[in-house]
Amino acid sequence: MLTNFNQAIMRLHCGGILLSLTSLCFAAPAHADNEALRGKLKLSHVSASLWRADYEFNQPIEGLRFRQIGEYRAQAWKPDGKLNGVVIDKEGETYLSNAGPTTRFSFFIQPYGKLVEGEYAPINQFTDGAASIYMGFFQASAILDKAAAPKPNEIPLKIEYQGLQGETVLPPPSRIGVDPVNEKQAQAYAYFGPQQVSSAGAMQVILDPAMPVWMRDTLLVTSAKISGYFESAYQRPLLTPLLMTVALSDLESSGMSIKGGASQGQINFRVSGKQSVIDSPALRDAFSQLIAHEIAHIWQNNLAHEAIGGDAPWIHEGGAEAMSLDAMYGSGLWDKDKFLAMQTRRWNECDKLTNAKIDLASNYRAQYVCGMKRFDDTKLSIVTIWRALIAESERSGKVYSEQMVRDILTQLQNR
Ligand SMILES: [Zn+2]
Repeated sequence: MLTNFNQAIMRLHCGGILLSLTSLCFAAPAHADNEALRGKLKLSHVSASLWRADYEFNQPIEGLRFRQIGEYRAQAWKPDGKLNGVVIDKEGETYLSNAGPTTRFSFFIQPYGKLVEGEYAPINQFTDGAASIYMGFFQASAILDKAAAPKPNEIPLKIEYQGLQGETVLPPPSRIGVDPVNEKQAQAYAYFGPQQVSSAGAMQVILDPAMPVWMRDTLLVTSAKISGYFESAYQRPLLTPLLMTVALSDLESSGMSIKGGASQGQINFRVSGKQSVIDSPALRDAFSQLIAHEIAHIWQNNLAHEAIGGDAPWIHEGGAEAMSLDAMYGSGLWDKDKFLAMQTRRWNECDKLTNAKIDLASNYRAQYVCGMKRFDDTKLSIVTIWRALIAESERSGKVYSEQMVRDILTQLQNR
């Protein structure tokens, strides 16, 4: 693999950029010019709060273009060497080489604690100096010719990670048996920090060491019980190891916020605000149910392809909400009364939104509570529905859609 990569770089030099290497050109295969552009990225933790991203491509390019993520790159990324600074344009952010086409680009990256609406948190910082960095934002398009539009496709990247001495480095997991370069394995977080991974049932966890004991206990017990329940209820092996990280940040700020997301076998939470560390039964319930909701997304996407589509979010959000309540009950964390109370609360929330005549399709909460109610209204078991949906997505290779849900429900109801 590596050898081929080096050969590719040699061949590229034959395009006339490095004339002294011309003699090597005759040894290169004739199809060299047609070789697809690809690259390597090495993300290194170079000092306590500094990372370095080194890109290397198999062909010289004029620049890189990234999707804009708020102010993240403008504030936290500093190009190194022969790069012009960030150019923000309509499509994204562009970095151009000021020394002509080149195969290498490097950036220094500083911690960035802000959130960008509708995006994964770029960097989750832990109180012990650890950080989880979202690797999806390292994907770039190539600018081959300054005058022409950039290639629309992202460049396939083989990514390596280098931590500080003695540091734990957890790259985003890849699906078992799938080449990471081909499956956009980078759509998840890389953890750099002093913590060792611990186990909670089928789940691996990294918890912020500043976490109060009640929160740690709640998270560990929930993770073990819920992950076990999903394994037995949905009857499929997980294609990626399941990892959960929970970072505490901004504990001085008022109020409380728990932000979480599931991506590629990973669940990452960021907990902030004074109130978030004060023990109460309601907060324990909220944490547990959120974990169950995110684990449900991992199961919805537990296929060789991306099964969650973007068109009808009520399917995966309402589905995960129903799956999470079922799992809280099925795993014994909630009794029947608690389950029914939580279900009724969500149905009522949906009724309120419906009566307010808001657009349910575009309302974030409606996707959860009214989406869940649509599944509940079928009177079928949510486990039966989602086993069938997962199997259908696997069979067809398609993402979950309104049509697929209709077809599956009709099949199940006529059984
Ligand atoms: Zn969700």
